[in-house]
Amino acid sequence: MMLPSDFELHRPATVGEAVALRAELGEAAALYAGGTELLLAMKLGVLDYEHLIDLKRIAGLRGVTCAGGELRIGAAVTHRELETHPDVVRELPGLAALERAVANVRVRAAGTLAGNLAFAEPHADPPALLVALGARVVLVGGEGSRELALEDFLVGAYETELGEDELIEAIVVPVGAPGAVYRKFQVLERPAVGVAAVGNLVGGVFDGAPTVVVGAVDERPVRVGAEMLDGAALDDEGAFAALAEAAAEAVEPVDDLSGSEDYKRHLTGVLAKRAVQALGDV
Ligand SMILES: Cc1cc2nc3c(=O)[nH]c(=O)nc-3n(C[C@H](O)[C@H](O)[C@H](O)COP(=O)(O)OP(=O)(O)OC[C@H]3O[C@@H](n4cnc5c(N)ncnc54)[C@H](O)[C@@H]3O)c2cc1C
Repeated sequence: MMLPSDFELHRPATVGEAVALRAELGEAAALYAGGTELLLAMKLGVLDYEHLIDLKRIAGLRGVTCAGGELRIGAAVTHRELETHPDVVRELPGLAALERAVANVRVRAAGTLAGNLAFAEPHADPPALLVALGARVVLVGGEGSRELALEDFLVGAYETELGEDELIEAIVVPVGAPGAVYRKFQVLERPAVGVAAVGNLVGGVFDGAPTVVVGAVDERPVRVGAEMLDGAALDDEGAFAALAEAAAEAVEPVDDLSGSEDYKRHLTGVLAKRAVQALGDV
């Protein structure tokens, strides 16, 4: 590991100042939050910037608020804050549980959810559950502010819809989903496969098809059609076998250090079944 080359650190006090700096410095600058991805990539010589724009001290990017049926998570909010925040624990316990299992406590204490989404590393936990919950990102740039469904924001591996002069201001997550569960399998630092399920059971029977989204396998989260579970009971083995097959077919895994293509397809099916069955416990 090398030392990163010299850079100038800018500490804007407001979102407006950060946007102005981004426009002024262009490609020579990167936005910098926890630095857990960025500084590592700079030390490895994969990325090189003359300027870093530190977002952590901007009051407008801090804090989690819950109003109007939505959680609004500021872009400077860390994984650790999310796993312990009373509103998140109360309204979206599945998200708090997911956050508790991201990386290690050092990374969680510095790393932000916005940084995770902006970096768009495919082997990540939050995108699958947030897509299943219908989360949106609030982007702000020179032209003002806009919102995008997270599903549309994440374009591919390390690729997003973020404009050159934009930053993520907040992540907005609807609350009130009857149940939201995430199950993952991981051998290395990051998940090999993660599956999110959001749905509702009435008297042990699915009321509508649950939403099932697979993360960490493809370059971006993949939805799995789960219509076979609409009206099915939790012990309907046939419906769950069909779900596992549909999930395994929906993904396009690549062989890598996390596992072979076949292994990941198998895991995807197993975890899809487990995540949806766990909706019966929430
Ligand atoms: C050892 C290790 C283990 C990990 N394990 C996991 C894991 O198990 N599961 C998982 O999901 N993730 C894992 N991660 C990834 C971790 O979640 C991210 O590193 C972290 O969330 C990134 O946030 P950050 O604030 O540090 O971003 P930074 O490193 O500061 O920035 C990352 C990127 O996002 C951009 N950026 C930052 N903030 C914004 C913003 N507001 N708007 C626009 N762009 C922005 C930066 O310019 C940069 O390109 C791991 C990381 C490490 C180092």
